[in-house]
Amino acid sequence: MNYREVESVGTYVARLETGADWRTEIEALADAVDADAGWFSALGAVSDAELWFYDQNDLEYYPIEVDEPLEVASCVGNVALLDGERFAHTHAVLSRPDGEALAGHLNRATVFAGEVHFQAFARPLERAHDETTDLDLWL
Ligand code: ZN
Repeated sequence: MNYREVESVGTYVARLETGADWRTEIEALADAVDADAGWFSALGAVSDAELWFYDQNDLEYYPIEVDEPLEVASCVGNVALLDGERFAHTHAVLSRPDGEALAGHLNRATVFAGEVHFQAFARPLERAHDETTDLDLWL
């Protein structure tokens, strides 16, 4: 295990822009408050989505494309630096009209409406390639 203490320097709420990309909006919030690291939760609705599932045998992400309106029943993630850029690692549980859920790593989605709670950390978190998992994990 690799751990550290984090110091919160600000807590923000934001409403995401209709028609914008969900993850890009969270990265824009991190830019706006100049945070290289933080933790967020969010909820709302999207008009489409691309989730990714990481296959632990193939060490590959496989996309799940959904072209229909969905509720963002729950979304959680964090912001860290990846190749020097702020990256919002985002996971979401999305639901259909009958309540059926789809979930995974959210690569992109078009915002219908969204509300985010973001806690900014004082010091950056950085990601780097991990040989074992072939993922970009925290240093
Ligand atoms: Zn993920």
